[in-house]
Amino acid sequence: MSAQLQENISKAEGYLARFKENTLGHYINGEWTLGSGETFDNTTPFDQSFLGKVAAATEADVNAACEAAAEAAAGWAATPGAERRKILHRLGDELEKRAEEIAMVESMDCGQALRFMRQAAVRGAANFRFFADQAPEARNGLSLHQAEHTNFTVRSPIGPVAVITPWNTPFMLSTWKIAPALASGCTVVHKPAELSPLTASILAECAEAAGLPKGVWNMVNGFGTVAGKALTQHPAIKAVALVGDSATGKLIQAQTAQTLKRLHLELGGKNPIIVFDDADFDRALDAVVFMIYSLNGQRCTSSSRLLIQSGIKDKFLAALKARVENIKVGHPLDPETEVGPLVHTGHYDKVTSYFEIAKQDGATIAVGGKSLRDEMGPGNFVTPTLFVDAKNSMRIAQEEIFGPVLTAIEFETEEEAIQLANETVYGLAGYIWTSNTGRAMRMAHAVEAGMLWVNSENNRNLPSPFGGVKMSGIGRDGGDWSFDFYMETKNVCIAHDTHKVPVLGR
Ligand code: NAD
Repeated sequence: MSAQLQENISKAEGYLARFKENTLGHYINGEWTLGSGETFDNTTPFDQSFLGKVAAATEADVNAACEAAAEAAAGWAATPGAERRKILHRLGDELEKRAEEIAMVESMDCGQALRFMRQAAVRGAANFRFFADQAPEARNGLSLHQAEHTNFTVRSPIGPVAVITPWNTPFMLSTWKIAPALASGCTVVHKPAELSPLTASILAECAEAAGLPKGVWNMVNGFGTVAGKALTQHPAIKAVALVGDSATGKLIQAQTAQTLKRLHLELGGKNPIIVFDDADFDRALDAVVFMIYSLNGQRCTSSSRLLIQSGIKDKFLAALKARVENIKVGHPLDPETEVGPLVHTGHYDKVTSYFEIAKQDGATIAVGGKSLRDEMGPGNFVTPTLFVDAKNSMRIAQEEIFGPVLTAIEFETEEEAIQLANETVYGLAGYIWTSNTGRAMRMAHAVEAGMLWVNSENNRNLPSPFGGVKMSGIGRDGGDWSFDFYMETKNVCIAHDTHKVPVLGR
């Protein structure tokens, strides 16, 4: 074990000690409470050891959080944008102060390699600052003229909102949602994923330290079927922002129907990375490897389907195979580790089941396809895996595996690439590698996805829209799209007193 890993482990133990010793509760109306429910054990995917007990919110706990958010809504909405901006900048400062702790706790809680988590707090802080800076102008609308009337629009916060987040990069994803909601003037009830609850509590502590008024930020731990469901059904909640599975998105659409809530659903994907013969070979290779094997492949925008043109297929797959074989699987806190353990045993079972499915479907396992439990102990370690000789109709090409597992499919022509790219129920992201600008433009129009990158890996630009089409979701995050979601637009129409008002019954 390297000295650096040894040091990281002992630092992480220090940060995790309080979670092991005290049950993690909910943050409701500015108070930490264990609520009225049972507790459940949280474990680390590194070796399944105990990370602490977590309170599972009951419907009554969720109701208390929603009522606190409702109570605080008018005050926070009326707080001047400049003041909200100041508080959210302070929150960004608090996150940065605790960057190392956030990174290490997140790594141990969800198995993501520290090399990718190091920037989590810094990026989280950047999210708060970006949206904070727009808070003072967020209410501004448009002025729309007619000959005898002038219309203007104003925006106001929609009210208390629910933010429901998954386990894959829980900290970052939570900040993407909560930052614009608070900047808009909405109060929030956040329910983090039950499989990775720890950093959400650090976020709430930072909010408290930044001086957010009581009730503006509430956080309830617990299960989707109880706490999540109650949250989506509460009448005080006006909008639900979910990042999660497509099946959960469907459930939430049904659960919110009776109270008619606004929904933003960021769901699953089976994103194609399309590499043409004329692509920059080395850069495309780097991007293909990075976009599926970083973050354990537990990333909604991961490029889990490689569509490779026949002219370079053999050379590209040979180079790819060598790279995948060389990926370092290890302790999430080891700075050398590129792939860590999968988040949970249930998810490990799902990912490893596809190794058999691939064989049954007739694909070839070119690299990996194995559990590493024999070599690496009880953690959820699997080999980075590459399936070749695959067809787009196979389950390994159609279903979201959400692990370090890539399916490579050959194509001949641009038309075929478009057809394969679009033959999926999903439509989150796509990646196109070609040196032909005209082709890049044609592909950009033809591939069905909310986001496309040309000659690039995933690059997040906060003012740009983020979200998917088809089963990958509804709605967009980012820039003013976020404010549009968390705010209501009102049109006010003022007559110039020159038009004839219709007369009845005079
Ligand atoms: P999940 O859908 O199982 O859980 C997400 C959250 O929803 C959790 O907090 C869970 O408790 C809650 N939930 C579950 N059932 C609920 C219900 N009936 N009512 C209310 N809340 C409920 O997802 P996951 O397994 O935690 O995360 C992985 C999924 O998230 C993948 O499909 C991945 O693609 C997707 N994801 C999408 C994006 C995106 O931006 N599109 C980003 C990250 C992850």
